[in-house]
Amino acid sequence: MFTTLAALPEQTSYDVIVAGSGAAGLAAAVFAAIEGRSVLVIERTDHVGGTSALSAATTWVPN
Ligand SMILES: Cc1cc2nc3c(=O)[nH]c(=O)nc-3n(C[C@H](O)[C@H](O)[C@H](O)COP(=O)(O)OP(=O)(O)OC[C@H]3O[C@@H](n4cnc5c(N)ncnc54)[C@H](O)[C@@H]3O)c2cc1C
Repeated sequence: MFTTLAALPEQTSYDVIVAGSGAAGLAAAVFAAIEGRSVLVIERTDHVGGTSALSAATTWVPN
């Protein structure tokens, strides 16, 4: 579910709060959710995905 911080109820709490929706943040969020944790991902831009949203959709692992 996507919403704004202002729209969240004041008393809402989460087990894990992730700052940033890039590959690193979303990976952390997914694994926390798989482990049964409630998760909030906060993204400062209007777009989900961070730099990976601009990538060529391949995994580049030098060295
Ligand atoms: C043009 C381009 C093409 C690329 N192509 C490839 C490719 O083909 N293959 C590949 O493997 N890699 C590619 N890369 C590299 C890869 O995309 C990045 O290394 C990777 O996406 C980094 O992920 P990240 O989660 O660490 O950071 P980011 O993707 O930078 O995510 C960080 C997120 O956190 C948010 N954020 C920052 N500060 C805050 C805050 N205070 N509060 C809330 N949110 C915040 C940002 O807005 C952003 O959404 C490319 C990079 C670029 C620039």
